[in-house]
Amino acid sequence: MSVHKCLNVNHRRANSPFRFCPSCGEVLNNSVPISICGMEKHTKEIGRGDKYCRICGERFTRQMEKVSLPKEMVSD
Ligand SMILES: [Zn+2]
Ligand SMILES: [Zn+2]
Repeated sequence: MSVHKCLNVNHRRANSPFRFCPSCGEVLNNSVPISICGMEKHTKEIGRGDKYCRICGERFTRQMEKVSLPKEMVSD
């Protein structure tokens, strides 16, 4: 028996269209090839509330912090 802590519906799919789970970053479907996606795609996924990229598996923690923070990095 394999019990998932992650509640993402994609874990229940027999054939997930995504390689990685956007909630926990686990591999959902090994047969989906890893593609390289850019910041644009990631920004959309972050906006959707994903924690991991479902295409390349990258973790969004840092980017999310950046996105949610106001532009305080500009020291002028
Ligand atoms: Zn998951
Ligand atoms: Zn990605």
